[in-house]
Amino acid sequence: MNTRNLRFRSNRVRDILALYHEELDGMYGSGEVLAFGEMLFEAFLGWDRVRLLTSREQTIDQSDLLRFHWALEDLKRYRPIQHIIGFVGFCGCRIAVSPDVLIPRPETEEMVQWIISTFNIHHSSFNILDLCTGSGCIAIALKKAFPAADVTAVDVSPAALEIARQNAKNNGAEVHFVEGDVLDGVNGFNGSYGLIVSNPPYVMEKERVQMQPNVLDYDPALALFVPDDDPLRFYKAIAAIAKEHLAADGLLVVEINEALADETAALFRACGFSPTIHDDFRGKHRWIAATFHTHIQ
Ligand code: GLN
Repeated sequence: MNTRNLRFRSNRVRDILALYHEELDGMYGSGEVLAFGEMLFEAFLGWDRVRLLTSREQTIDQSDLLRFHWALEDLKRYRPIQHIIGFVGFCGCRIAVSPDVLIPRPETEEMVQWIISTFNIHHSSFNILDLCTGSGCIAIALKKAFPAADVTAVDVSPAALEIARQNAKNNGAEVHFVEGDVLDGVNGFNGSYGLIVSNPPYVMEKERVQMQPNVLDYDPALALFVPDDDPLRFYKAIAAIAKEHLAADGLLVVEINEALADETAALFRACGFSPTIHDDFRGKHRWIAATFHTHIQ
């Protein structure tokens, strides 16, 4: 394909960005389209924001232009930018993603940053267990933050575990991966953990209608949805695992559905935990931290 077949007016950076805005502004917020441009120039050409801002009149190679063309076509089909680029930055780690794993969300990153700033490394047991690990982002970020901790991560999907293992390797993080179903209670790990963490599926089927096509078409349903009649099923299973495997002074942290925060907290309270609901940067109830003893939080 040569430039004549592409709709870009020229190979100039300014014209590339202009076409992105023309074709995408109606589909995405304009702040988002701006971010796409920055992410693609960074991924394809290694340009940072400042370089992009000061290079509007510069032209790029034909082969690079073609990549911007295909990325634009993908974005018009709501393919997530993270899949186009192939990775997501998460707590300073580079996490590869594919349709087999949930794309790590900024809310989850915020939860992990909170854990890193809060978690008391003097806990008697310093092992970490991550349930429903997906891409491995949580386990890997925690291992990087707490290199002395022994980190175990569980997922039911062999395809997800393959990506998680690769991510651990590429980030130089030693994580122990276990294939298992949290809903079955998971066998194959034992002992006591100072920190148990999970971002399980929590979107109710009835919430599907409110979701964006880039989530519905490209994130794995297995990682997202729970039945309307039992939306807390993963939290029940996690509470049972934590009762057995959380150290007496350990911390349990779970990402939650903001619409079910009170019910989820009540469930943990009924299981003998002392839960606290935390809000994310959008002001939504996003995670619960729980201990066996109120004085630790
Ligand atoms: N926060 C994600 C979303 O709304 C869902 C993540 C999950 O189910 N664990 O797309």
